[in-house]
Amino acid sequence: MIKYLIIGSALYGLIKIFSEILQNRKHLSDDEISEYKYRRRSLSETNQRRITNHIGTCESCRERFTEKMNQ
Ligand SMILES: [Zn+2]
Repeated sequence: MIKYLIIGSALYGLIKIFSEILQNRKHLSDDEISEYKYRRRSLSETNQRRITNHIGTCESCRERFTEKMNQ
């Protein structure tokens, strides 16, 4: 019985990691970029992390973000 619980929570962890990776690959919307810039505190921790990761790895969203910073 315990075995199934362990397998179950391992699977759940994997699915969570994969869905976070998939979310990270999705480009940021303009709303997300301005929210991140002006109202970062209103975003959930998961969203903040996703946006930070995405800006760190995606050149085109980083450019859009920098453009907004300069506006
Ligand atoms: Zn992007």
